Amino acid sequence: MSGNMNINQRYAAILGWFASNRPAVQSELHFRNGYELIVSVILSAQCTDRRVNMVTPALFGQYPDPGSLAAASFEDVLALIRSVSYPNSKARHLIEMARMLVTEFHSVIPSDIDSLMSLPGVGRKTANVVASILYDKPVIAVDTHVLRVSNRLGLSRGKTPEKVEADLESHIPVEQRAISHHWLILHGRYTCTARKPKCGECPLTQWCEYYSASDR
Ligand code: SF4
Repeated sequence: MSGNMNINQRYAAILGWFASNRPAVQSELHFRNGYELIVSVILSAQCTDRRVNMVTPALFGQYPDPGSLAAASFEDVLALIRSVSYPNSKARHLIEMARMLVTEFHSVIPSDIDSLMSLPGVGRKTANVVASILYDKPVIAVDTHVLRVSNRLGLSRGKTPEKVEADLESHIPVEQRAISHHWLILHGRYTCTARKPKCGECPLTQWCEYYSASDR
């Protein structure tokens, strides 16, 4: 079926499957407010959500808000997040991010992408994740999972996060963008894995460009 589909039919079929079968997915990070979300997302770069969730209870116990984190010492923060990837730069970014939140944003997480990206440690993907989850902004954060799954399914041939983001946003309705990000991430994390996609257990084979092109 995949070979005969046009791009709109492909989007409709795949989003339709997710909407029917995964109606209520959300972030796997544990957070209770915007501050905890942005800290968790910064920590999750190149690291699993599970590992981040292991360090954040103690981190948030010690530093429950931007003000306390802004006053923290580098060594103390580093000791709490040592088991995540790139702990040195993340500890530095977290403290600098908290300081800027306090001095520039009255300790409130900003809602617009440019302001979010002005915070230390916050790139476009992190800004989109935060804006989408916290403020329901109709943006799609493209990480390595979203990019790979979008390419394989045939939703986008873009090779950069920016191009894939533009393609996804031009086809996915505003009200489905936030959840689509989670659908694609979770599909990439558990089924359409990087080295060896589990096509044998994938429910999307009939619409997948990679699958229909491969010799199976
Ligand atoms: S069929 Fe295979 S390549 Fe296509 S989305 Fe599913 S797991 Fe990924």
